[in-house]
Amino acid sequence: MANQTKRLTTNVDGNFFVDATCINCDTCRQLAPKSFREIGEYSAVVQQPTGDQQRHQAYQALLACPVGSIGTVNPDQALMAAARASFPLHLEDGVFYTGFNSEKSFGANSFFVRQPQGNWLIDSPRYTKQLVEAFERMGGIAYIFLSHEDDVADSQKYAKRFGARRVIHRADADAAPGAEWVIDGEDPVDVISQFRVIPVPGHTAGSMALLYRDRYLFTGDHLWWDPEHRMLDAPQQLVWSKPQLLKSIARLLDLRFEWVLAGHGDRIHLPVAEMHAHLQALLDRRQGSFHTGGVVE
Ligand code: SF4
Repeated sequence: MANQTKRLTTNVDGNFFVDATCINCDTCRQLAPKSFREIGEYSAVVQQPTGDQQRHQAYQALLACPVGSIGTVNPDQALMAAARASFPLHLEDGVFYTGFNSEKSFGANSFFVRQPQGNWLIDSPRYTKQLVEAFERMGGIAYIFLSHEDDVADSQKYAKRFGARRVIHRADADAAPGAEWVIDGEDPVDVISQFRVIPVPGHTAGSMALLYRDRYLFTGDHLWWDPEHRMLDAPQQLVWSKPQLLKSIARLLDLRFEWVLAGHGDRIHLPVAEMHAHLQALLDRRQGSFHTGGVVE
């Protein structure tokens, strides 16, 4: 729980606050962008939420925060319960953002796909009663897609609870000992109908993306949306191989998708052509930097 004695001075006065335990993971800024912003090395409340929607989003951020750094001076239990019940958060057509981000994955986003051939969990949130019961109600979990070694969090607990098969690339498989489905090489794999695993080495040697219905691309930490500059972005630091990262970005140009659903960074929904143009622009920026001898960002 957030501690008022550690309340950051960068917060505006009022009910909601961020304390000094914040790890600056961005989760609150994605969920409640009107209320939270990055100031220095932390998030802070820059505007107290007003109106039902903003208050709901602020409580969602409080619950999703992986380290409990968001607090309220006077908690509203009814609003808290409503925010808790809103997770997993339905995005579109059986695709959900789970909430309850995990500190073990530095607050990465996780997703859930409900579909007749067996549901998918994409990377792992915290193992919470709320999510376990919600997944139970929706038919359990058949597959757990692990985009890369950093975001496995509580996947083993979920796999055990639901008898799910964890899917991970061999190059990152040490992070998920005993994983039930290990992907080799760099060729895309059609794991079941409408689900294609695409190895995208770069951030890590075993990074993978998951394409669902040629519409939703779950990207882990390979690719995300930067809302401030309105562009797609890719890792600039913590990159295992920069040339491989470029190749893996280029590989996605052959695909058709409208959504990017990222582990770290914002998600985005765009028309196919616009998404393709953003992807090409990202590749052009990175190739330019690479070939002029600059740092591949
Ligand atoms: S969600 Fe929590 S840890 Fe992450 S940036 Fe916000 S306050 Fe900090």
